[in-house]
Amino acid sequence: MNERKQEKYDKAYLRMAKEWGKLSYCKRKQVGAIIVKDRMIISDGYNGTPTGFENFCEDEEGYTKWYVLHAEANAILKVASSTQSCEGATLYITLSPCRECSKLIHQAGIKRVVYQTAYKDDSGLRFLERAGVETYHLPILEEMV
Ligand SMILES: [Zn+2]
Repeated sequence: MNERKQEKYDKAYLRMAKEWGKLSYCKRKQVGAIIVKDRMIISDGYNGTPTGFENFCEDEEGYTKWYVLHAEANAILKVASSTQSCEGATLYITLSPCRECSKLIHQAGIKRVVYQTAYKDDSGLRFLERAGVETYHLPILEEMV
């Protein structure tokens, strides 16, 4: 695929990830993720509490509960419970991954991460680069999404 065409697809998938993030019940931060393999969407996710728990992500003080799963973790786990695998896949995410999720991304076999907004702590991104996972910052404009 040529570069311009790749960028066109990257933007479209990232817009979908953004749309997915809107489904999150979390108030502080809404993050969406899409996993694409061989030009097919194999998974999606947004940040939220585990299955069977109340939807509210924040406690009474407004802090995010520790057991809230991040969007990319949810998307990776969805693949884990299917017959698919993340090997060689691309992750599209609205916020660059944290350290914890970066480990999952690499270990799941994801080879490329396209993100919209850079998270203040870049240790996740630095870890991914070290692990040989390609990271790509694609700041799509608000009015486009
Ligand atoms: Zn995370």
